[in-house]
Amino acid sequence: MKLIDDLWFKRRDIISDGFDESLEYISKIIPMKIHQFRTGTKCWTWEIPKKWTVIEGWIKDSNGKLLLHSKDHPLHIPTYSQGVDKIVTHDELMRHLSYNENQPNAIPYHERLIYDKAWGFCVEYSKLENFKSKEYHVYIDTKFEDGFLKVGEVLHPGKVDESIVVVAHLDHPCMVNDDLTGVAGLVELSKKLLNRQNHYTYRLFLLPETIGSIALLSQNEDFIDKIKCGIFFEMLGTKAELILQHSKQKNTIIDTISSSVFKNNLATYKELPFIGEMANDEQVWNGPGVNIPMISIGRGHYSEYHTSNDTPQIVSYSNITQSIEIVSKILEILDIEHIPERLTKEKTDEKVREQKQKKHEQMIDDYIPKRLFKGPVFLSGYGLYPNKKYNLYDNLSDDACKVRLLFNYFEGDKSISEISKILRWDFKKTLSWTDKFLEKGLIKKIEIK
Ligand SMILES: [Zn+2]
Repeated sequence: MKLIDDLWFKRRDIISDGFDESLEYISKIIPMKIHQFRTGTKCWTWEIPKKWTVIEGWIKDSNGKLLLHSKDHPLHIPTYSQGVDKIVTHDELMRHLSYNENQPNAIPYHERLIYDKAWGFCVEYSKLENFKSKEYHVYIDTKFEDGFLKVGEVLHPGKVDESIVVVAHLDHPCMVNDDLTGVAGLVELSKKLLNRQNHYTYRLFLLPETIGSIALLSQNEDFIDKIKCGIFFEMLGTKAELILQHSKQKNTIIDTISSSVFKNNLATYKELPFIGEMANDEQVWNGPGVNIPMISIGRGHYSEYHTSNDTPQIVSYSNITQSIEIVSKILEILDIEHIPERLTKEKTDEKVREQKQKKHEQMIDDYIPKRLFKGPVFLSGYGLYPNKKYNLYDNLSDDACKVRLLFNYFEGDKSISEISKILRWDFKKTLSWTDKFLEKGLIKKIEIK
């Protein structure tokens, strides 16, 4: 696929020249509007970071021998690393190196430095034995500048303004399945929609993961009411079976239609709840203050995930095509049925709450948390990100992942004990983490009578 061959090795960091060039490239295949959001703009609890460029980076041992250079592979320099130019001890260097023992010959992709505001390098685990010196010269030349976060929107107007959105993320340098295969799928879908008379308006978005959705929605809150539902695409080209992850709202029209299309058209597939395996921008669209039912379609985790081994060689193009055929069927049915039903937003009326309170089995210290924020919480900014320094490969059963889901349930209609059941997480942990949100002033406490 030409788009993948041309774009995969670009340094497509969230706000970067590589990202902008890639968006420009795709806009020549499918015309799109490009939304721009200035760096530094406050977006709910987040702020758009500066544009980042890496000039070069390397490590030399005490004999001056070059151990690693960014020109050998761009992923040696983690996205949004700070600059550095100094002599460090072996111990200090090791604290700044990331590697993946399960893929010893691959360079891992590390994206947390943007929030840690630290410098770092990524290296193949198999090359660690070359680091024998007591001291090293570490050098990274980077630029942080003002600029614009960019979001591409492909518009297919329908009979009504009410819109269906499809989203894929274009960032992640030098990797293919996550999520250039979603981008390629979105381009294919756009071509199919062009040949149809649509009832709904279709809006296809290409953006930097998470912060792109947050910027778009926080700066266009009026737009939220126009959206009926959505689909997020990710990892469409691995060899694994297709996964349908339901919306947080469950049982909405897009959930029901997708379930039956999967069942009737695929011999094998997986059907999972919200964030059952993959976690991306659907967290923002389904999330607090937005509440748009968005399902996610992808093929889940794979061993080359977030490493330099996620190359075009491991991509199945027929699987991308198959994914888009399924999505196209879902949208066709949705468009024909155009049921006027829309999920009621912000449904936290007093009656519902009173009923909950009555049938609630009382637990000591339990209360109902009600959010005072919109959008997913910028956890790092509030010191709420559960740090797992050496594990870049989150497993959704870990506490860290529970915290990332927790704030989705602060709508004021559920007690902490109810939330702990939904998350299948220990009550005391759910309570202590909820208390941290309370201390930061992000939620208020509703007592259970
Ligand atoms: Zn990723």
